Amino acid sequence: MSAGQPTVLVVEDEAAQREILSYNLEAEGFRVVRAENGEDALVRVAEENPDLILLDWMLPKVSGIEVCRQLKIRTETRGVPIIMLSARSEEVDRVRGLETGADDYVVKPYSVIELMARVRANLRRTRPAAVGEALNYEDIHLDAETHRVTRSGKALKLGPTEFRLLSTFMEKPGRVWSREQLLDRVWGRDIYVDTRTVDVHIGRLRKALCQHGGNDPLRTVRGAGYALG
Ligand code: CA
Repeated sequence: MSAGQPTVLVVEDEAAQREILSYNLEAEGFRVVRAENGEDALVRVAEENPDLILLDWMLPKVSGIEVCRQLKIRTETRGVPIIMLSARSEEVDRVRGLETGADDYVVKPYSVIELMARVRANLRRTRPAAVGEALNYEDIHLDAETHRVTRSGKALKLGPTEFRLLSTFMEKPGRVWSREQLLDRVWGRDIYVDTRTVDVHIGRLRKALCQHGGNDPLRTVRGAGYALG
């Protein structure tokens, strides 16, 4: 099942390295997209909207540094965490890597366990529910680890789709999500679902959130989509 999983883009020109990284990320439950050069990476980012990027420094066509610089300039991609991978360990390179806007910097040869920990740490900021963090919004508490939701301390019964919808909203309260964005995030972009399905599940989520009373925290934004609060 790909729905709700964070997508990680692995940009690495060495096939063996690329496969080791992808294998480990998939074992951790991430959806993996691969690119073997900088040009390809920029195309994949536009197509796949990844939640995090592992970016090799030395790449054919467009360098990792240049890819990072371009992604950090654009508003659409600025917030996506980038972890630079580099064989160069000099402090000056580290500084240069971070100056281009990279969020983290790992020197090769790296420990896969440590790198996976860094991936989770970076996603904790941007996709907290997806890495098992507990979330709170007003009187609603969502524990992604145990899949339990409470409101004012009372357990709420939620279907799996409603649970993923609610975690998406609770990761970014106030953000307006279009139906298409919710389909991508909650159902996964690999399957076809009618956008009206989103409305049906929003209806169920609203009902579930109010099962012990309280007001409806979800807002319908006409012509745009839905938001929490
Ligand atoms: Ca390389």
